[in-house]
Amino acid sequence: MAIIGAGPIGLFLGALLSKRGRSVRIFEQSPSPSPGSNAIGVTPPSLELLDKVGAAEPLIASGTPLRDVWVYGRRTRLLGRADFSTLDSKYNFILTVPQSTTETLLERALQFYPSAALLRGRRFDGLEQEPDGVRIRLLDAKDPDRPPAFEDFRYVAACDGAKSQVRASLGVAWNPRRSASTFVMADFFDESGWGEAAKLFFTPDGAVESFPHAPGWRRWIVQTPGFMDNPGSYLEQSVEARVGMVLDPLRKGWQSPFGVQRWIAPRYDFGRVFLAGDSAHQMSPIGGQGMNTGFADAEFLAAVLHARLENALTDAEFLACGRLYTKIRRRAAWSAAHRAEASMAAGTMRGNLSGARDNLLSWVLQGPLKSRLAPHYAMLTIPGRTLGAMRKNSRLIRRLKEFL
Ligand SMILES: Cc1cc2nc3c(=O)[nH]c(=O)nc-3n(C[C@H](O)[C@H](O)[C@H](O)COP(=O)(O)OP(=O)(O)OC[C@H]3O[C@@H](n4cnc5c(N)ncnc54)[C@H](O)[C@@H]3O)c2cc1C
Repeated sequence: MAIIGAGPIGLFLGALLSKRGRSVRIFEQSPSPSPGSNAIGVTPPSLELLDKVGAAEPLIASGTPLRDVWVYGRRTRLLGRADFSTLDSKYNFILTVPQSTTETLLERALQFYPSAALLRGRRFDGLEQEPDGVRIRLLDAKDPDRPPAFEDFRYVAACDGAKSQVRASLGVAWNPRRSASTFVMADFFDESGWGEAAKLFFTPDGAVESFPHAPGWRRWIVQTPGFMDNPGSYLEQSVEARVGMVLDPLRKGWQSPFGVQRWIAPRYDFGRVFLAGDSAHQMSPIGGQGMNTGFADAEFLAAVLHARLENALTDAEFLACGRLYTKIRRRAAWSAAHRAEASMAAGTMRGNLSGARDNLLSWVLQGPLKSRLAPHYAMLTIPGRTLGAMRKNSRLIRRLKEFL
């Protein structure tokens, strides 16, 4: 089968399927792995999944286990903290690690399985579905004027991200809802003295968030008044003005402005072609759930495809499993997207409303809801968070679980 895109979701899906002996070709347009470090939060359900391909332990060794998050309001008053150490999981923390490291380790995991091939420099350009397979058109990413190549597969997974070309080839209209909130983030050598704690500052001038990630490094995110193509030293200035912390611009790594959009595909299953990861859903990065939602898509889809390739599903059952994949993973994506938006709305409130926000947050962080916060942010309470953890088991779900 073919997977388009070697981001975290394509690589993980490829590793899951090839571990089961399935022949997988992954086509990636970029000639080399991406150096960017967008997603840094890996939740306990994702670590449980990554463990299936031997990637959890090396990832943990490369990152920082985040055991608590401190939340501050106006005049840097401490409103409370969420403590992950009591989570009901083998992994009682959220791992923070750059996305580039996650991808490198998944690529390494893939190399263990001889039936997997990662083909870089190949750009997906179109597809045609036939009754018994899918023909895909591929371009040489370095020389797109060269005549295209065609390859035939039984199934295709679109893991080619938010601007998915596979999704466009299926004729799916893409109309994301853009939020007014905008941010800039940058990684600095960690001279905060805050150790492994994450700190969120919800100030009347806008949010400032700070997370440890690769050892020695800290990610800073600040809310901006509008999208900044060229943020320069806006982040350092805002952190100093809003929080009183001075960051050394000479010890800055990667910096990137970002906006927020939300879109969830009406369907994930299209006959022999399936969407997974950001091609199927985009949500606010504030909340750190997009990649984690995608890992669980990959787990579900791998079970459907493996069962089908083992001839364990009739045509009708395969169709029903595709529908079920859409239903369960869309519901999970909506839930994650709403949570991310609620966190973002609470954190980005500015001006006079921030006083009311402080009162509400300290009630939530210190009152009767306190014990529910950590499982909520660790994505342990997302409906159908992973196929393996699903409790309500229909006949088809039970069948699919045999192929995990
Ligand atoms: C600032 C920021 C912070 C974030 N933080 C978090 C976080 O903490 N936790 C979290 O869970 N999520 C987070 N996310 C979201 C996360 O980055 C994405 O959900 C994740 O990258 C999606 O992975 P993917 O594999 O689906 O797509 P991508 O990572 O976009 O990978 C798609 C791949 O497909 C390739 N491709 C595209 N088109 C083609 C083509 N035509 N042919 C061949 N290859 C193609 C691309 O080159 C790329 O390698 C964050 C996002 C941002 C922007």
